[in-house]
This record gives sequence, structure tokens and C-alpha cells, in this order.
Amino acid sequence: MQVTRTSRMLRKTLLGLGLSLALTGSVMAATMADERPDPHSYSRPDQVTVTHLALDLKVDFDHRALVGNATLMLEHQREGVDSLVLDTRDLAIDKVETKVGDQAWQQAKFKLGDDDEVLGRALTIELPAKANEVRVHYRSRPEASGLQWLTPEQTAGKNQPFLFSQSQAIHARSWVPLQDTPQVRFTYEAHIQTPKGLKAVMSAANDPQDQDGDYHFEMPQQIPSYLMALAVGELRYQSMSERTAVYAEPSVLEAAAAEFEDTETMMDAVEKRFGEYRWGRYDLLILPPSFPFGGMENPRLSFITPTVIAGDKSLVSLIAHELAHSWSGNLVTNAVWADLWLNEGFTTYLERRIMEDLFGTDRMRMEAVLGFEDLKADLERHEAGDTQLAVQLAGRDPDDVFSNVAYEKGRLFLAWLEASFGRERFDPWLKSYFDRHAFQTMTTDRFLVDLDKNLLQKHPGVVSMDEVKAWIYQPGLPKGHPVPSSNAFSDIDNLSAAWLKGEKAAHELPVKNWTTHEWLYFINQLPRDLGVARMAELDKAFKLTDSGNNEVVHSWLKLAIVNDYSTAYNRLDQYLTGIGRRKLITPLYEELMKTEKGQAMAQRIYREARPGYHPLAQGTMDEVVGKPK
Ligand SMILES: [Zn+2]
Repeated sequence: MQVTRTSRMLRKTLLGLGLSLALTGSVMAATMADERPDPHSYSRPDQVTVTHLALDLKVDFDHRALVGNATLMLEHQREGVDSLVLDTRDLAIDKVETKVGDQAWQQAKFKLGDDDEVLGRALTIELPAKANEVRVHYRSRPEASGLQWLTPEQTAGKNQPFLFSQSQAIHARSWVPLQDTPQVRFTYEAHIQTPKGLKAVMSAANDPQDQDGDYHFEMPQQIPSYLMALAVGELRYQSMSERTAVYAEPSVLEAAAAEFEDTETMMDAVEKRFGEYRWGRYDLLILPPSFPFGGMENPRLSFITPTVIAGDKSLVSLIAHELAHSWSGNLVTNAVWADLWLNEGFTTYLERRIMEDLFGTDRMRMEAVLGFEDLKADLERHEAGDTQLAVQLAGRDPDDVFSNVAYEKGRLFLAWLEASFGRERFDPWLKSYFDRHAFQTMTTDRFLVDLDKNLLQKHPGVVSMDEVKAWIYQPGLPKGHPVPSSNAFSDIDNLSAAWLKGEKAAHELPVKNWTTHEWLYFINQLPRDLGVARMAELDKAFKLTDSGNNEVVHSWLKLAIVNDYSTAYNRLDQYLTGIGRRKLITPLYEELMKTEKGQAMAQRIYREARPGYHPLAQGTMDEVVGKPK
């Protein structure tokens, strides 16, 4: 049913695009000429585009609703357009008004289309000729997929409620009616009212001192809708450097600022190689533990999981990643979600370059090997079509594309180009790529044209277009792909083998200087059927069940489940109810679901943990474990 609807919409939009292309001199035709319509939006940016958004919202914690209005400034792309189509999901629309020039607001007719499970509902608004503003009065519903409303108990401080948004991929439409496609960029301003004592922050210019419950925001750079972001809670501010700061709940503030103090150095590192940072400030917002992602690259204010505060900066590659999106993703943006690899592959590549600049080649290589192991697992797990870089997504939920293929295969492809051309040729191309396409969308096709013209043809005979296309359109990894390696990990392979053969006892292993990465590699490479006795030996020697590092514990708990090592089960319980980051909890539930005993445990834990999870994590875990009755 979903598929039919999407393909019908696709045909309709294709027709519209054909018409717009006939118009010469149209701005949209120039930027969208080779852009396919976005199958995940009802909007028709080929007819009329939103150029600016003004939000006026009250945050109502009692009813778990954002209440107010959104004013959209319009630019007509062709003559005779008589309607505006916006994306919505679960929004209650009270009233719509339109405005022509300086004339008074007029009430407008509007219609909400059928509800589609993935896309939500189209909001079609009748437009008078030359109408250039539309105002939608609305409220969000408590179940909005892009918002999580936390009770005070679900926060670190336990004093105040908390709200945060997560708009990527197509969840902005659940809290703002807009053209929810990366193909449309707009500036925004917002007036947000909150209960006293709570602070609102947005992916915009923030005033750190403001605490009065009445907040104004300005976002002067054009962004796509998935970068709309809002959070409200008991938030404090701590500066880290001239351009960077942390917002967090009071109890986490100091630890976060210490953990992420290298953020400005990371910015300097990318700027030196790949061009200026174009967003003014770069601040971090530390969210409560239920945040379903590692981080979200909301411009000027990345949203960050607290699970990477390890006390030793061992997991700060996440900050490098979100920061790198200020170039790949936020500046040069995938035009449709099927091209996500253009956002995430480039960003993972930049992330590793930052880590190398700041922490050295050894650490970068270890992170590359761990990423490669994740990629190999995903290449096995996914159907062939989903192991191409350019994926077919029409008729599917865009959240389906978020696998290690986009991230790590994308990164490996760029690492292959780098190795083939050498940094002295590759880096200038990448820098100029960001310049050429700044504040624009990118498709795989347009990327190929740019690469061909500005790298391949400039240095002929290095790699062929056929080789490049094999990376992008063939499943799996092409012949001769780079294989990341690390000397530190080779040492661990030897030690691990010695221990497994009984040549060394666990407490004799020289782990004193092991980094988090070495621990992760050691645990992940152990035979899956290790057995309870050997698990206990490791645990006794290294206290792995009690490790405070969320990634290390994750790997250990996964092994504990496979081996039914019950000593770790209290910790498992506590872990799964304490955090909601999908990457860390989903594999544990999946592992539990493989046995009868594990299933009972998963269901018991999930029943307790579910109310604390984000709607997106609930959706995933409902599929893995089943919705509790
Ligand atoms: Zn990313």
C-alpha cells in the first residue's frame, strides 16, 4: 500500500519537475535540474519554495505539546501556482492564513490528506495568486515521532522535565509543518516560551545567559528541514574556548566540558585542510541518556549522547564526527535520503582525518579497523541492494538507510581515492568540492560529474570512472579495496591467542596501557563460544562487568549473553534501562532474542525500560522484542 502511494506521488512530482524545467532562468531549475524528486516528501518545491520560517511556539509539558504557529515565506517558481503542499505527521491543524504583500492576513482553505505510516499526511493549502506568506496555527501531539518528552525522573538532575527534538530523517514534520525534504533550504527565526526555570536552545544563535522562559532565536544560514532542532530543560552553559561551549544539565556540565575540551582544536584541524567553518559558533548540547543516537549534527549546536563521556576522551571521535558534518551534510547536503552516503561517508572520512591530526595515526588506524569490522558485519547482514552506496529507498522508511554501509563503505571509498591520488591531490579536490557546493544539495550523479571533472580528468590514468562506479553501484566491496590495519591490534591478536591456548593466564596479559580501542578489539575478537569459566577468568582479572566505559561494557555484555554468563545480568538490566542509544542497546536485545531464556529476559527488561526510551528507539525495539502487552 505504501509502495503504491509513493510511486503515485513520484509520478506526479516527476510531471511537475518536467514543467519547471521548461522555465528558463528559474532559480530552482538551475539548482534542481538533475535532482530527482524526493520520494519522502509530499512537497512540490518545483512550484513554490519556502525560503524562511518564523516559529512562535509555547512548550506545554503538561499536555506534551508545542502550541502556536509557523509562518512560511514563499518564493513562487512558476506562474499560476494555486496551492502549497506541506509535510505533516500527527499535527493538529487549527487554522491556516495566507498573506499577499502588505495586505492583511486572510483565512485559507486547507486539506489534510490520508495518513501514510512513513510519510505522514500532506497538508494542502489553497494559495491566492502571488501569496508570499502562509501561517499555520497548530499543535503537536504527545506521540510526535520527532519529539521526546521526559519526566524529571528521566533526566540526570531529576528536578525538571526535558524536551528534545530529533528531526532527521523525516521527523521535523511531526513538530513543524514544512517542506520536509533536504532539497529545500531556508533561514529561520523562533520565539519559544517555556515554563520558568527551563532554558530553550535551538540549532541557531543561542544566548547563553538568557534564562527567563521567553527566548528568541535567529538562524541566518540556510538549512534543510532535518536540521531544525529544539531542546528545553534545566540547562547550564560552560564555555570551552572562543567558539565552543557546552550546554548540559548542571550535574553533567563539568565532566562534559572537560571531556570535549579539544573541540576547538578539532575545528582548527578541519579548517586548515578543508576550508573555513561557516556557521559562527560550534556548541554542544549534552542530552539525557535516552537520546537514541550518538549525536546529531544540528548546526551551531550538535546534540550529543552522554554515553561518550568516558572520563578519558576515548570516545570523542563522536564529536569529530558531528563537527565534520558542518562541512559534509550541513554545508553540502544529500538531496534525497537514498544518497545518505554523501553525508555520512564523507563525514566518517573527515572524522578519521580529525582524529589522526589530534591523536595520531595509531589511534586513527585502530578506529578504522573497528569501523571496518562493523562494516563487514553489516555487509553480511543486509541484502545485496542495501550494500551499494547509492541505495534504492522509494517506498521505504528512510531510517532504513542508516547502516555502516553509508558510513564505513563510504569512508573506505574516499580513503581509496586518497590512497590512489595521494593527499597532495586529493585534499585540494575535497576542499574545493565543499567550496563549489556550499549551501547546496548533492546527488550521487552530480558528485560523479564533479569528481570526474575536478579530480579524475585532472590527473588522468590514476583511477577510472568504471572503478569509481563499482564502488557506488555494486554491492559489497570492490576488488583491491583498502583493508584497514593496526599494529596495536596485531599485538592483541597474539596475546589473545596465547591466552586462549593456555600459554598465559588472564592476569598475565599486559593490559596496563591498553586504550578503550584495544579493549574493544580484544573483546570483539574473542571466540563467541568462550564459555562461562573463561568469561569469569577475564572478569576476575579485569572487572569488565563493572567497566564505566559504555562501549566496552556493551561489547562485554553481548559476549555475556551468548555465553549465558549470569554474573553480568544485573549489569545488563541496569545498562538497558539506563540508556536509550540505539546503537548500544539494539544488538543486546537482538542477542537476547536468540534463545528462549533470553527472550523472557528481553521482554521483562523491555517492559520496564520502554517508557524511558525515545519513540524511535521504541519503534526499533518493538520490532526486535515485540511491543509489551
Ligand atoms: Zn553522521
